[in-house]
Amino acid sequence: MSFADDVRAELCAIPIKKPCCRRALTAGLLSCVRTCEGKQMTVRYKHEAVASLAMDLLARQYGKQPALAISGASGHRYYDLTFSSPACYKQYLRMREAGADVEEIVGFSCDACRGAFLRGAFLAAGTVNDPHKAFHLELLLPDGVDTAALIGFLSASGYPPRSVKRAGGVGLYYKDGGSVEDLIGMAGAQHTVFEIINSRIERDIRNNENRATNCVAKNIEKTISAATRQMEAINALMEAGKLDALPEALRVTALVRYRNPDATLDELVRLHEPPISKSGLNHRLKKLLEEAEEL
Ligand SMILES: [Zn+2]
Repeated sequence: MSFADDVRAELCAIPIKKPCCRRALTAGLLSCVRTCEGKQMTVRYKHEAVASLAMDLLARQYGKQPALAISGASGHRYYDLTFSSPACYKQYLRMREAGADVEEIVGFSCDACRGAFLRGAFLAAGTVNDPHKAFHLELLLPDGVDTAALIGFLSASGYPPRSVKRAGGVGLYYKDGGSVEDLIGMAGAQHTVFEIINSRIERDIRNNENRATNCVAKNIEKTISAATRQMEAINALMEAGKLDALPEALRVTALVRYRNPDATLDELVRLHEPPISKSGLNHRLKKLLEEAEEL
Protein backbone atom coordinates (compact mmCIF):
# COMPACT_ATOMS: atom_id res chain seq x y z
CA MET A 1 0.00 0.00 0.00
CA SER A 2 1.28 3.45 -0.86
CA PHE A 3 1.34 6.28 1.63
CA ALA A 4 -1.69 7.88 -0.05
CA ASP A 5 -3.56 4.55 0.23
CA ASP A 6 -2.96 4.58 3.98
CA VAL A 7 -4.29 8.13 4.19
CA ARG A 8 -7.37 7.16 2.16
CA ALA A 9 -7.98 4.14 4.40
CA GLU A 10 -7.74 6.39 7.47
CA LEU A 11 -10.16 8.92 5.97
CA CYS A 12 -12.66 6.27 4.83
CA ALA A 13 -12.81 4.86 8.35
CA ILE A 14 -13.79 8.11 10.08
CA PRO A 15 -17.31 7.75 11.45
CA ILE A 16 -19.84 10.40 10.41
CA LYS A 17 -21.87 11.66 13.30
CA LYS A 18 -24.24 14.27 11.91
CA PRO A 19 -26.49 14.50 8.85
CA CYS A 20 -24.98 17.90 7.93
CA CYS A 21 -21.48 16.37 7.80
CA ARG A 22 -22.74 13.41 5.79
CA ARG A 23 -24.23 15.85 3.28
CA ALA A 24 -20.90 17.74 3.11
CA LEU A 25 -18.85 14.54 2.71
CA THR A 26 -21.16 13.35 -0.08
CA ALA A 27 -20.86 16.70 -1.86
CA GLY A 28 -17.06 16.46 -1.60
CA LEU A 29 -17.14 12.97 -3.08
CA LEU A 30 -19.02 14.45 -6.04
CA SER A 31 -16.25 16.98 -6.74
CA CYS A 32 -15.27 15.10 -9.83
CA VAL A 33 -18.48 14.22 -11.59
CA ARG A 34 -17.21 13.39 -15.07
CA THR A 35 -20.28 13.34 -17.21
CA CYS A 36 -23.79 14.54 -16.87
CA GLU A 37 -26.16 13.47 -19.63
CA GLY A 38 -29.72 14.46 -19.16
CA LYS A 39 -29.93 14.37 -15.41
CA GLN A 40 -27.83 11.24 -15.17
CA MET A 41 -24.45 11.76 -13.57
CA THR A 42 -21.39 9.58 -13.67
CA VAL A 43 -18.57 9.92 -11.23
CA ARG A 44 -15.38 7.90 -11.47
CA TYR A 45 -13.26 6.67 -8.57
CA LYS A 46 -9.91 4.92 -8.72
CA HIS A 47 -10.15 3.18 -5.38
CA GLU A 48 -12.57 0.49 -4.36
CA ALA A 49 -12.91 1.64 -0.76
CA VAL A 50 -13.77 5.17 -1.89
CA ALA A 51 -16.28 3.91 -4.47
CA SER A 52 -17.96 1.76 -1.87
CA LEU A 53 -18.18 4.67 0.60
CA ALA A 54 -19.63 6.89 -2.15
CA MET A 55 -22.20 4.22 -3.12
CA ASP A 56 -23.35 3.99 0.46
CA LEU A 57 -23.52 7.76 1.00
CA LEU A 58 -25.26 8.51 -2.32
CA ALA A 59 -27.89 5.88 -1.58
CA ARG A 60 -28.53 7.34 1.85
CA GLN A 61 -28.45 10.96 0.73
CA TYR A 62 -30.55 10.68 -2.42
CA GLY A 63 -32.53 7.52 -1.73
CA LYS A 64 -31.34 5.66 -4.82
CA GLN A 65 -28.68 3.02 -5.27
CA PRO A 66 -26.15 4.12 -7.93
CA ALA A 67 -25.17 1.67 -10.66
CA LEU A 68 -21.56 0.50 -10.48
CA ALA A 69 -19.43 -0.31 -13.51
CA ILE A 70 -15.88 -1.52 -13.08
CA SER A 71 -13.36 -1.21 -15.90
CA GLY A 72 -9.61 -1.23 -16.45
CA ALA A 73 -6.93 -3.78 -15.63
CA SER A 74 -5.91 -4.83 -12.13
CA GLY A 75 -3.90 -2.10 -10.47
CA HIS A 76 -5.60 0.54 -12.61
CA ARG A 77 -9.25 -0.13 -12.05
CA TYR A 78 -11.96 2.46 -12.45
CA TYR A 79 -15.18 2.42 -10.51
CA ASP A 80 -17.88 4.42 -12.27
CA LEU A 81 -21.01 5.24 -10.29
CA THR A 82 -23.99 6.33 -12.33
CA PHE A 83 -27.14 7.72 -10.78
CA SER A 84 -29.80 10.31 -11.26
CA SER A 85 -31.39 12.49 -8.64
CA PRO A 86 -33.08 15.87 -9.21
CA ALA A 87 -31.71 17.24 -5.93
CA CYS A 88 -28.18 16.12 -6.73
CA TYR A 89 -28.45 17.47 -10.26
CA LYS A 90 -29.60 20.85 -8.94
CA GLN A 91 -26.61 20.99 -6.62
CA TYR A 92 -24.31 19.98 -9.48
CA LEU A 93 -25.59 22.88 -11.61
CA ARG A 94 -25.27 25.40 -8.79
CA MET A 95 -21.67 24.28 -8.17
CA ARG A 96 -20.85 25.21 -11.78
CA GLU A 97 -22.24 28.72 -11.55
CA ALA A 98 -19.74 31.58 -11.53
CA GLY A 99 -18.77 32.52 -7.98
CA ALA A 100 -20.34 29.33 -6.57
CA ASP A 101 -20.09 29.26 -2.79
CA VAL A 102 -19.71 25.64 -1.67
CA GLU A 103 -20.45 26.46 1.95
CA GLU A 104 -23.80 27.98 1.03
CA ILE A 105 -24.76 25.49 -1.69
CA VAL A 106 -24.02 22.42 0.43
CA GLY A 107 -25.34 24.10 3.58
CA PHE A 108 -22.50 23.68 6.05
CA SER A 109 -24.08 23.87 9.47
CA CYS A 110 -21.49 22.76 12.01
CA ASP A 111 -17.76 23.20 12.59
CA ALA A 112 -17.00 19.77 11.14
CA CYS A 113 -18.80 20.24 7.80
CA ARG A 114 -15.89 22.01 6.09
CA GLY A 115 -13.53 19.16 7.02
CA ALA A 116 -16.06 16.56 5.84
CA PHE A 117 -16.37 18.24 2.43
CA LEU A 118 -12.58 18.40 2.09
CA ARG A 119 -12.33 14.73 3.09
CA GLY A 120 -14.79 13.82 0.33
CA ALA A 121 -12.91 15.90 -2.24
CA PHE A 122 -9.60 14.36 -1.20
CA LEU A 123 -11.00 10.83 -1.36
CA ALA A 124 -12.46 11.53 -4.79
CA ALA A 125 -9.48 13.24 -6.38
CA GLY A 126 -6.61 13.62 -3.94
CA THR A 127 -3.20 12.19 -3.46
CA VAL A 128 -0.44 12.96 -1.00
CA ASN A 129 3.24 12.05 -0.97
CA ASP A 130 5.04 10.37 1.87
CA PRO A 131 6.18 13.44 3.88
CA HIS A 132 9.53 11.77 4.53
CA LYS A 133 10.19 12.14 0.79
CA ALA A 134 8.43 15.36 -0.21
CA PHE A 135 5.56 17.57 0.86
CA HIS A 136 3.00 17.37 -1.91
CA LEU A 137 -0.77 17.21 -1.74
CA GLU A 138 -2.78 17.39 -4.92
CA LEU A 139 -6.36 17.16 -6.08
CA LEU A 140 -6.41 15.96 -9.67
CA LEU A 141 -9.64 16.90 -11.41
CA PRO A 142 -10.31 15.28 -14.76
CA ASP A 143 -11.03 17.32 -17.89
CA GLY A 144 -14.58 18.55 -17.98
CA VAL A 145 -14.80 18.99 -14.21
CA ASP A 146 -15.39 22.55 -13.12
CA THR A 147 -12.60 23.52 -10.73
CA ALA A 148 -13.80 27.01 -9.77
CA ALA A 149 -16.06 25.94 -6.90
CA LEU A 150 -13.34 23.76 -5.37
CA ILE A 151 -10.70 26.47 -5.77
CA GLY A 152 -13.15 28.90 -4.14
CA PHE A 153 -13.74 26.49 -1.26
CA LEU A 154 -10.01 25.91 -0.66
CA SER A 155 -9.25 29.63 -0.87
CA ALA A 156 -12.10 30.51 1.49
CA SER A 157 -10.68 27.91 3.90
CA GLY A 158 -7.39 29.84 3.88
CA TYR A 159 -5.48 27.60 1.46
CA PRO A 160 -5.56 28.95 -2.10
CA PRO A 161 -4.06 26.15 -4.21
CA ARG A 162 -1.63 26.42 -7.08
CA SER A 163 -2.85 24.79 -10.24
CA VAL A 164 -1.11 22.94 -13.02
CA LYS A 165 -2.27 21.34 -16.27
CA ARG A 166 -1.87 17.58 -16.08
CA ALA A 167 -2.46 14.87 -18.66
CA GLY A 168 -6.23 14.46 -18.63
CA GLY A 169 -7.06 17.19 -16.18
CA VAL A 170 -6.00 19.94 -13.81
CA GLY A 171 -4.03 19.50 -10.60
CA LEU A 172 -4.67 21.75 -7.61
CA TYR A 173 -1.65 21.34 -5.39
CA TYR A 174 0.37 22.35 -2.33
CA LYS A 175 4.06 21.78 -1.77
CA ASP A 176 4.65 23.39 1.60
CA GLY A 177 4.64 21.23 4.70
CA GLY A 178 2.41 23.66 6.61
CA SER A 179 -0.47 23.58 4.12
CA VAL A 180 -0.22 19.82 3.61
CA GLU A 181 -0.31 19.28 7.37
CA ASP A 182 -3.25 21.68 7.88
CA LEU A 183 -5.35 20.28 5.04
CA ILE A 184 -4.77 16.65 5.98
CA GLY A 185 -5.64 17.58 9.56
CA MET A 186 -8.78 19.42 8.43
CA ALA A 187 -9.80 16.35 6.41
CA GLY A 188 -9.45 14.35 9.62
CA ALA A 189 -6.40 12.11 9.09
CA GLN A 190 -4.82 12.70 12.51
CA HIS A 191 -2.43 9.78 12.27
CA THR A 192 -1.01 11.21 9.03
CA VAL A 193 -0.73 14.66 10.61
CA PHE A 194 1.58 13.21 13.28
CA GLU A 195 3.74 11.66 10.58
CA ILE A 196 3.95 14.98 8.75
CA ILE A 197 4.85 16.83 11.96
CA ASN A 198 7.56 14.25 12.70
CA SER A 199 9.07 14.52 9.26
CA ARG A 200 9.02 18.33 9.47
CA ILE A 201 10.89 18.17 12.78
CA GLU A 202 13.40 15.69 11.32
CA ARG A 203 13.94 18.03 8.38
CA ASP A 204 14.50 21.03 10.64
CA ILE A 205 17.06 19.12 12.68
CA ARG A 206 18.84 17.93 9.53
CA ASN A 207 18.93 21.46 8.10
CA ASN A 208 20.34 22.86 11.33
CA GLU A 209 22.97 20.13 11.44
CA ASN A 210 23.96 20.90 7.85
CA ARG A 211 24.14 24.59 8.64
CA ALA A 212 26.36 23.93 11.67
CA THR A 213 28.61 21.59 9.66
CA ASN A 214 28.94 24.16 6.89
CA CYS A 215 29.81 26.81 9.43
CA VAL A 216 32.54 24.66 11.02
CA ALA A 217 33.88 23.76 7.57
CA LYS A 218 34.03 27.43 6.60
CA ASN A 219 35.93 28.32 9.77
CA ILE A 220 38.41 25.52 9.20
CA GLU A 221 38.91 26.70 5.63
CA LYS A 222 39.51 30.25 6.82
CA THR A 223 42.04 29.09 9.43
CA ILE A 224 43.87 26.93 6.89
CA SER A 225 44.09 29.64 4.26
CA ALA A 226 45.39 32.17 6.83
CA ALA A 227 47.95 29.65 8.09
CA THR A 228 49.06 28.89 4.52
CA ARG A 229 49.66 32.57 3.84
CA GLN A 230 51.65 32.91 7.06
CA MET A 231 53.77 29.86 6.23
CA GLU A 232 54.49 31.21 2.75
CA ALA A 233 55.53 34.55 4.23
CA ILE A 234 57.82 32.95 6.80
CA ASN A 235 59.38 30.67 4.15
CA ALA A 236 60.00 33.67 1.93
CA LEU A 237 61.64 35.58 4.78
CA MET A 238 63.84 32.56 5.60
CA GLU A 239 64.89 32.04 1.99
CA ALA A 240 65.75 35.72 1.68
CA GLY A 241 67.79 35.47 4.90
CA LYS A 242 65.66 38.22 6.46
CA LEU A 243 64.36 36.30 9.44
CA ASP A 244 67.38 36.93 11.66
CA ALA A 245 67.17 40.63 10.96
CA LEU A 246 63.65 40.85 12.38
CA PRO A 247 62.94 42.03 15.93
CA GLU A 248 63.17 39.27 18.56
CA ALA A 249 59.35 39.13 19.12
CA LEU A 250 58.59 38.67 15.43
CA ARG A 251 61.27 36.02 15.08
CA VAL A 252 59.85 34.02 18.00
CA THR A 253 56.33 34.11 16.52
CA ALA A 254 57.66 33.18 13.06
CA LEU A 255 59.42 30.13 14.49
CA VAL A 256 56.43 29.04 16.58
CA ARG A 257 54.20 29.23 13.51
CA TYR A 258 56.84 27.52 11.33
CA ARG A 259 57.06 24.57 13.71
CA ASN A 260 53.25 24.33 14.09
CA PRO A 261 51.77 24.80 10.63
CA ASP A 262 48.39 23.28 11.62
CA ALA A 263 47.92 25.14 14.90
CA THR A 264 44.95 27.46 15.39
CA LEU A 265 45.46 30.98 16.72
CA ASP A 266 44.46 29.87 20.23
CA GLU A 267 47.00 27.06 20.11
CA LEU A 268 49.70 29.46 18.88
CA VAL A 269 48.92 31.79 21.80
CA ARG A 270 49.51 28.95 24.25
CA LEU A 271 52.77 27.94 22.51
CA HIS A 272 54.36 31.32 23.20
CA GLU A 273 56.83 31.68 26.04
CA PRO A 274 56.70 34.32 27.51
CA PRO A 275 52.90 34.46 27.12
CA ILE A 276 51.27 36.64 24.53
CA SER A 277 47.72 37.89 23.97
CA LYS A 278 45.66 36.87 20.96
CA SER A 279 45.60 40.41 19.62
CA GLY A 280 49.37 40.63 20.16
CA LEU A 281 49.79 37.43 18.17
CA ASN A 282 47.53 38.71 15.41
CA HIS A 283 49.55 41.88 15.24
CA ARG A 284 52.82 39.98 14.91
CA LEU A 285 51.48 37.64 12.22
CA LYS A 286 50.21 40.61 10.26
CA LYS A 287 53.62 42.28 10.57
CA LEU A 288 55.32 39.11 9.25
CA LEU A 289 53.01 39.15 6.20
CA GLU A 290 53.92 42.79 5.58
CA GLU A 291 57.66 42.11 5.91
CA ALA A 292 57.36 39.30 3.36
CA GLU A 293 55.41 41.51 0.99
CA GLU A 294 58.22 44.03 1.01
CA LEU A 295 60.65 41.46 -0.35
ZN1 LIG B 1 -21.68 19.10 10.07
